[in-house]
Parts: sequence; C-alpha cells; structure tokens
Amino acid sequence: MQLSENVEEYLEFLYMVEEKGRKKARINEVAEGLGISPPSAVQMLQKMERDGLVKYEVRVGVALTSKGRNLARNVIRNHRLAELLLKDILGINVDEEAVCALEHHISGKIANAVCTRLNHPRKCPHGNDIPLGSCCK
Ligand SMILES: [Zn+2]
Ligand SMILES: [Zn+2]
Repeated sequence: MQLSENVEEYLEFLYMVEEKGRKKARINEVAEGLGISPPSAVQMLQKMERDGLVKYEVRVGVALTSKGRNLARNVIRNHRLAELLLKDILGINVDEEAVCALEHHISGKIANAVCTRLNHPRKCPHGNDIPLGSCCK
C-alpha cells in the first residue's frame, strides 16, 4: 500500500502516543503535534478511518487499528534508521528536517541495509526503540 507522506506523519504521531503508553490520542493533541488545525486533522483522520488505518470516535479520540499500527511501525523504523544513517554512517548532524525528508523515501531494502550495517541497533540516537525488521533475526 502506497501511503502519502501526510498519512505517514499521522501514523508516526499516533505510534509515538502509544509508545508513551496511551491507546488514544485527542484531536487537539494530533493537530498541535502536526502543526495543523483541528478541523483539518479531523478531515484527514476520517479519511484514514475509511482506509482502515485508525478508529476515530468523536469526543473520545483516535487510535491505530492493527493495520495502521503495522504500517506505522514501518514508518517509525525507517525514521529511526534514517537518523542512524545520518549520524553513524554519514557522520552528519541528525536534524529533523533531513530525517523527515528521508524517512518517506527510504525503502525497506535500504532500511534493512542500514540496520544490517550497524548490526541491528535497537535504539535511535534519541534512545527510542527501533522496531525489528525482517533482517533482525
Ligand atoms: Zn530518534
Ligand atoms: Zn536488522
């Protein structure tokens, strides 16, 4: 499934909310986190719900479905491996702008190559967990 970069940002955000131990995110929180207005967040989340990626309940919040979570895991994995690619392989500063540009274009094959080259690291430079990939056996 080909996801738009925009959808990937939402998935990533919701995954990180789960990492903090919460299953649901509030709309205002999503809007603030992504720097958009709450009405545009609602519009996007409704579209993502039609695609089966999230479950959105008015006044309750939004949660990933298992399909959404699997895709989100991959985006997060690519993001964190992109950070390590910059920092540990290329030796350049991990700035968010460069990482965000990269993460949407890094293929599973490149992610696995970075992962293998660095001996399957478990943490990104910020200390966050990197989800396992097919190379990490
Ligand atoms: Zn990081
Ligand atoms: Zn690996």
